[in-house]
Amino acid sequence: MLTRRIGSALTVGLLLTATLGAGGTTAVADHGPPGKRPVAVGYGGAVVSDTAESTAAGLEILRRGGTATDAAVAVAATLGVTDPYVAGLGGGGYFVYYDARSRTVSTIDGRETTPRAGGPTMFVDPNTGQPYPFPTAVTSGLSVGVPGMLATWQRALDRWGRFDLATTLKPAIRVADRGFTVDATFREQTRQNEGRFAQFSSTAELFLPGGELPEVGSRLRNPDLADTYREIARYGPRAFYGGSIGRDMVAAVRTPPVAPDATIDPLPGLMTLQDVRDYRTIDRRPTHVSYRGYDVYGMAPSSSGGITVGEALNILERFDLSELDRVQALHHYLEASRLAFADRGRYIGDPAYVDVPQRQLLSDRFAAQRACEIDPAAAAPGPVPPGNPFGSAECAAATTATPDGNPGTHTNHFVVSDRWGNVVSYTNTIEQLGGAGIVVPGRGFLLNNELTDFNFAPTQGEAPDPNLAAPGKRPRSSMSPTIVLKHGRPFLAVGSPGGATIITTVLQILVNRLDFGMSLPQAIAAPRASQRNAATTQAEPAFIAAPTTPGLEALGHRFQIRDTSSLDPNIKISPDIGVASGLEFVGRGKVIAAGEPVRRGGSAAAVLYPAH
Ligand code: GLU
Repeated sequence: MLTRRIGSALTVGLLLTATLGAGGTTAVADHGPPGKRPVAVGYGGAVVSDTAESTAAGLEILRRGGTATDAAVAVAATLGVTDPYVAGLGGGGYFVYYDARSRTVSTIDGRETTPRAGGPTMFVDPNTGQPYPFPTAVTSGLSVGVPGMLATWQRALDRWGRFDLATTLKPAIRVADRGFTVDATFREQTRQNEGRFAQFSSTAELFLPGGELPEVGSRLRNPDLADTYREIARYGPRAFYGGSIGRDMVAAVRTPPVAPDATIDPLPGLMTLQDVRDYRTIDRRPTHVSYRGYDVYGMAPSSSGGITVGEALNILERFDLSELDRVQALHHYLEASRLAFADRGRYIGDPAYVDVPQRQLLSDRFAAQRACEIDPAAAAPGPVPPGNPFGSAECAAATTATPDGNPGTHTNHFVVSDRWGNVVSYTNTIEQLGGAGIVVPGRGFLLNNELTDFNFAPTQGEAPDPNLAAPGKRPRSSMSPTIVLKHGRPFLAVGSPGGATIITTVLQILVNRLDFGMSLPQAIAAPRASQRNAATTQAEPAFIAAPTTPGLEALGHRFQIRDTSSLDPNIKISPDIGVASGLEFVGRGKVIAAGEPVRRGGSAAAVLYPAH
């Protein structure tokens, strides 16, 4: 065991790389940067998040007797300081929770909503009649949805917390006041956004100190965010949802604070203070499928995550992947994902606006229909049509193909457990790395650009597109915070960022763990490939270099690292897919906490009482 000082004076027990896992023989190298470890094993509660400070904040709350929910709010608030380009007060997310007392899984939908003045043509340029170029929408007030983050924290605390919001915000306030040490990952993420951040005076002031990239090793303080959190601690969420913070946010959305030397004229947003006042989280029942004796719970729409992961698992359950050779098993993984994505595109949207056939999409009958589309001898040559979940169990007749739209890039996922056995799997986001690029002046947080998750124009031919904007509507998400039970007890909690690749990352980790016998750390570290009903499969370089690739290519699969052609050229993209984190419960209160050894700078995993 290592004990070291992390962030602002918090002492945290961290365990060096573990080698456990029911699947066997792990040896995941310890590549984490100083202060971060990708794996920890022990008891009493665990946290895996993106930064050392956020993990330490969660442990601090657990140590003081907080629940997994209390700790999760502390982690999320601290990530708003130390991981500000991927989440924070300006964003939204999905909170999936296992309650040990009632032995049930519940979820909170904290997705952003469309302002009342928005609608299906809001991303169509009135001058041309064509959708705005994607990069124009990305860096704009127009793409900002009403944030659900703070409302989610309060709702989760009301349902499952022991502490109040003010208490759970304390660690984040301390980190924001004292600052955190800029590492190479943070500097690189800033560099990737430098061109955009320089367009807004408030953003440049915070993240480009003196007009320069923050130096590695320097401290980045965010006193404005500390004050914003203090105001929330004092007055509660109403300071945001209708109060002075909300007012400042609406002003920034409607009149983005462009720098005097800005070279862009960002589209203004439509949000009003009434929209912010009207925001509500939604308690939802989780999606559920059983897979090889496990119960897999995920996020129901407005996220497409739970249904799409669940449908793919249902399809895969019809094949014994552990018996197939690895090329065939991966072929089935890729094709099941392709089919599930076709259905996602056609049927899933915000259920308040779209009749989502959730039960049918997750039925075994539909899985049987879709499974027979998989040809063991050949990959589908390109996008496949959606199935008919209302039809017979026979193979569906072809209709129109539904290629997947834009995959976003950044977000964070973290997991927390506590001494009572409660578990949180929480994905939160401001959509793209750096969100809309706009810091709310004087408030220290970036605005999301979540509304770019809508389709800007119909994508389904004659059929209605379930993911067009509408007043109050939540854009379809791919976030897939997942909790897996075995005999009614937690077995795994897992999730990832990565836009639409989130779904395939979670699916692949589940297949790696449940079918291929990898340990959780191995399942997370393994190279990834993401087939989203396209002619080519996005893959990491290490997946392409693997010995299975020639066999997959012989079946017709084509792999490429991420296609960035539709994106803002100022945003540099890493070839990595996802940044996952997970927990595995191995019995007698023992937990394996596992994150990324390498991707996006590695994860910070920790447990309250390390195993010896
Ligand atoms: N906005 C994306 C979604 O909800 C998440 C962003 C990302 O991970 O890139 O699916």
